[in-house]
Amino acid sequence: MAEKICVAVRVRPSISEESPSGTFWKIEDSRISLHKLHGTPISGLSYAFDHVFDESCSNSKVYELLTKDVIHAAVDGFNGTAFAYGQTSSGKTYTMNGSLNDPGIIHRAVNDVFQKIQMISDREFLIRVSYMEIYNEEINDLFAVENQKLPIHESLERGIFVAGLREEIVNNAEQVIKLLESGEVNRHFGETNMNARSSRSHTIFRMVIESKGIDTGSGDYSSSDAIRVSILNLVDLAGSERIAKTGAGGVRLKEGKYINKSLMVLGNVINKLSNGAKQRAHIPYRDSKLTRILQTALGGNAKTSIICTVAPEEVHVEETKGTLQFASRAKRITNCAQVNEILTDAALLKRQQLEIEDLRRKLQGSRSEVLEQEILKLRNDMLKYELEREKLEMELEEERRSHKEREQRIRDQQLKIENLSSLVSDGDRSSSQDSMKESPKDECNDFKTPCFKETSNNAFVAKRSNYSELPDFSPLPDSFSNVADEDTWFKMNKGYIADLDSLQTTPARKVQSFPPQDITPDCSNDNYKLELQNLKTQLELVIKEKVELQRKHEEEVQINSRLMGEICELKQELDLSNNSLESSKQRYGNLEREFQKLKEERDSLLQTVSESSKNITFLTDQKENILKDLNCEVQRRKDLEVEIKQFSVAFASRQRSLASIHGEFKSKIEKLRAENLVRY
Ligand code: ADP
Ligand code: MG
Repeated sequence: MAEKICVAVRVRPSISEESPSGTFWKIEDSRISLHKLHGTPISGLSYAFDHVFDESCSNSKVYELLTKDVIHAAVDGFNGTAFAYGQTSSGKTYTMNGSLNDPGIIHRAVNDVFQKIQMISDREFLIRVSYMEIYNEEINDLFAVENQKLPIHESLERGIFVAGLREEIVNNAEQVIKLLESGEVNRHFGETNMNARSSRSHTIFRMVIESKGIDTGSGDYSSSDAIRVSILNLVDLAGSERIAKTGAGGVRLKEGKYINKSLMVLGNVINKLSNGAKQRAHIPYRDSKLTRILQTALGGNAKTSIICTVAPEEVHVEETKGTLQFASRAKRITNCAQVNEILTDAALLKRQQLEIEDLRRKLQGSRSEVLEQEILKLRNDMLKYELEREKLEMELEEERRSHKEREQRIRDQQLKIENLSSLVSDGDRSSSQDSMKESPKDECNDFKTPCFKETSNNAFVAKRSNYSELPDFSPLPDSFSNVADEDTWFKMNKGYIADLDSLQTTPARKVQSFPPQDITPDCSNDNYKLELQNLKTQLELVIKEKVELQRKHEEEVQINSRLMGEICELKQELDLSNNSLESSKQRYGNLEREFQKLKEERDSLLQTVSESSKNITFLTDQKENILKDLNCEVQRRKDLEVEIKQFSVAFASRQRSLASIHGEFKSKIEKLRAENLVRY
């Protein structure tokens, strides 16, 4: 039912000793107006409300006249809100919390709720309380200091609520009062200037009253199965004074900005609501935490009472005017409160709806998203594994190639070492032969290769140029084949350049053609010595080279074995990644199957939902038809009744006329009989 918000103004006792010099606020019944001192009211500054309480008024009276109905209605299942609005030090906290001698609205409400529910014997109650503070647009839990900066959420089941806020289940008023006291302690925690904070923060004490009819076995399902849930907010707002008056910078300015925001939005909301239904297109509840929490209390499904506290002192006239204007606007707001009753069927339907919603969300949202993400991840992993595998294969190929090259090199080196070894042993032999000869005379003008062993008939040899110097000794290896390798030749001759022009076959020369006696018998001894010396030096060099090559060979062998180890490891790694790729593929397949199954499930659920809704429409139609039939029947019955009545009236008159005819007949017969008797 639509009803106006209940608005009252309360003037607190004057604190200052000064008596007014220009104007004063005059209270007459439910009207407050600004008067000139000893004079007339100032026009335009007279306001009427549901109640105006003067300085002598107690909290008890305020509660009785303004809030009690809201509290009682809350017990009966209506949402309720009572809040105090006004500038700092105008008496908001005094009104809400009260003093030792005169408890405030919150205490009285708590006591009243418990007293009232004790008197209701046919319902059982569950009461939960919470206490929060909005400070700098952040919601903090006053029952649990650790719960800070709580978010506001909205759900089908709970409506608008503060997520994570501690709710205490309570059984008696004392328990609530104790909790409130502990909440106040939390509020003081860490605060150096409590007053500064309290004037800048909004506190909301909230009671959730749930009740259910006790089953009396009367069979009255509609009342005993109904669950009522109502929310009661008791709010002590921050000071409504303009920020300029606080005159502070820094942190306080920031605080001020936020209070301004919350109260400004509250003002906007109230403005818009007071403009009437036509202009209530968009109400900016979402613009501040305060209005969002109080959304149902303002223009919604709630019974609301506002107490606007004002200070009587002349210095506060401007602020008081502001408060009274706010109160006037609030007075124009219409709320539409109704009992929040959930019938069992409705609750069932609601729960089913929620479950379907939940399932849908799971299917459409989180579950499938999770699956899709997992599939994506797996796909990525698979790609990664494949790339890795390709890389590893490439590396392996590379390794194989370099391994082959190395082996080839090693083989070459081995060959060289063998060649050198044989060369060295030949050299040794020849040098020892040379040394055995005391004075070998060798005069060779064409070429000089004294260490020639057996040479096949068609072997090539290079002829020393006639113009060149005496060449270095150039021994040939044992395994020297038919064709002398130019490189080896070059190396062995230590830079000797073959005169390729004079290359000739020496078929005629045989081993026997180099007998010692034939070898340049006229060569000088010195020359021979020199040659021997050269030979020795060369031999040393070759030995050194051999040692070096052997060392290199060993190194290469080591590197090779290490590489073989690495290749083995790589192979193992490749196997492993192949395995994990395989298992990923399997998991991917499984997930895709699951996803498919879920999709099917969702489709069938959607099918069921649509069938159910079809059924519901069909049933509703049927019900309507039956109702129509019933109405027709009722109408017919009524018509019949009317007809019966008319018939009985007609019947009665007929009866009467019949009776009179009967009487007449009787008298006539009597008469006739008498006549007959006379005749006979
Ligand atoms: P607010 O919460 O609006 O800042 P308070 O409730 O703290 O203001 O009131 C400021 C001072 O005035 C307090 O000391 C309080 O006790 C006193 N006061 C306020 N209203 C009344 C009242 N109606 N009767 C007696 N004292 C009051
Ligand atoms: Mg206060």
